[in-house]
Amino acid sequence: MRNALLINYAYCTGCHTCEVACQKEKGLGPEQFGIKLTQIGPDQIEERKWQYEFVPVPTDRCDRCVERTESGKQPSCVKHCQAGCMYAGPLNDLVPLMADGKYALFT
Ligand code: SF4
Ligand code: SF4
Repeated sequence: MRNALLINYAYCTGCHTCEVACQKEKGLGPEQFGIKLTQIGPDQIEERKWQYEFVPVPTDRCDRCVERTESGKQPSCVKHCQAGCMYAGPLNDLVPLMADGKYALFT
């Protein structure tokens, strides 16, 4: 069974590094994505206070970096995430990590 991807998007800064890391790894063009950042908001939470959420979502092009993981490496997006908020592995290993935070789990 292929690995799952877990993203604690409470810590995602919206830096797009995961998108670029995937494009480099997979030889994709600038408009082709294995993972795509989604922006939620801005939502106004108080006067002059706005809130954004960023949630990276793998696309159909994502194969969970099966070649890399079979040779013991992390997926490229996980390795290069600037915030260290991406995790990859078997589903059973990732579920216990979902304690504090805002998680998106992709199987
Ligand atoms: S796991 Fe690999 S293929 Fe999937 S989004 Fe991350 S870098 Fe791209
Ligand atoms: S590299 Fe990490 S912090 Fe940057 S957009 Fe992707 S998930 Fe968010």
